[in-house]
Amino acid sequence: MMRSELFQCLIAGPCSAETRSQILQTAEGLRDLPLSYFRAGIWKPRTQPGAFEGIGNEGLVWLQEVREKFGFKICTEVATAEHVKAAVEHQLDMVWIGARSTVNPFTVQELAEALEGTRIAVMVKNPVNPDLKLWLGAIERLERHQINVIGVIHRGFSVYQKTKYRNNPHWQIAIDFKQARPDLPLLMDPSHIGGRAALIGPLAQQALDLHYDGLMIETHCNPKHALTDAKQQISPNELATIFNALEPRPKNDQLSLVLTNLREKLSSIDDSLIELLEERMNLSYQIGMLKRSHNSPILQVEHWEATKRIFIEKALQSGLAMEFIEQFIKMIHEESLRIQLDINKEHHAS
Ligand code: PEP
Ligand code: MN
Repeated sequence: MMRSELFQCLIAGPCSAETRSQILQTAEGLRDLPLSYFRAGIWKPRTQPGAFEGIGNEGLVWLQEVREKFGFKICTEVATAEHVKAAVEHQLDMVWIGARSTVNPFTVQELAEALEGTRIAVMVKNPVNPDLKLWLGAIERLERHQINVIGVIHRGFSVYQKTKYRNNPHWQIAIDFKQARPDLPLLMDPSHIGGRAALIGPLAQQALDLHYDGLMIETHCNPKHALTDAKQQISPNELATIFNALEPRPKNDQLSLVLTNLREKLSSIDDSLIELLEERMNLSYQIGMLKRSHNSPILQVEHWEATKRIFIEKALQSGLAMEFIEQFIKMIHEESLRIQLDINKEHHAS
């Protein structure tokens, strides 16, 4: 199998168009890769105002130059009817609807109306929140306006807590999407899922293992100095290295899908456990400080006995094994005591 056949669709290019030379240099670096589209954000949806919000229409001309010089098809994100108008005027080959737009049916409606009759290809990123129906609904809204060249991009879902990934992949949603709409190409965006350059390679391999139809990867000629998403962008050379290292694996669809999904869930639960333990120990420390300032004893046996009893009762109701639960709460308690005793040691030492 040729490398170029691993995926049906490879999209690469910077998060944002910044300057003409940045765009041309990035495209130059990508010229030997089998790109289906060269991407660049022209209007950037930023979390906070005041940051770089995209170069605007001028960047569309640079994209046209990329197409002329390197033969790549070109695409950008649209979020308003005005963006669609500009993209059509500059004859873009594809536009995508970003996660912050897919989430809003009014926006998708506006875009569907603006796109009707343009024959431009459209890719729909998943909404920022983990809602399969909303994602499917956005596609249906486009189809009602006779937009029929559609693909979808899985870019993960917003999280509040810090995890390994910038966005929680919720693999099951992508798998369910594929099941609901096997007719649509499903791409993965490892850049926005991972949020870090180091995660792009493993996620791209996972996309291959899970039989995604393609990848969208943010690529910048000088990632460290990118004006947006600097941590997750990789250079064209790094993309080539990742692409060349991808290994087609023997197919065992069902098993690999289920295993990946379950392992991701486990790892996200482990992340939560760590966070909760950290939070619990911080609280123990605060209580220890209070006890010290009021000169009250660290171990209050009755309170500990009651805490343990209630914990065990609740845990048993959840079907957890008595022996495990008892050991678990004892270990946590021991660590809390150690933290509080250390406060006193520090106090006496000073
Ligand atoms: C992007 O692709 O640069 C982008 C803003 O993506 P998302 O909508 O996935 O956040
Ligand atoms: Mn980005």
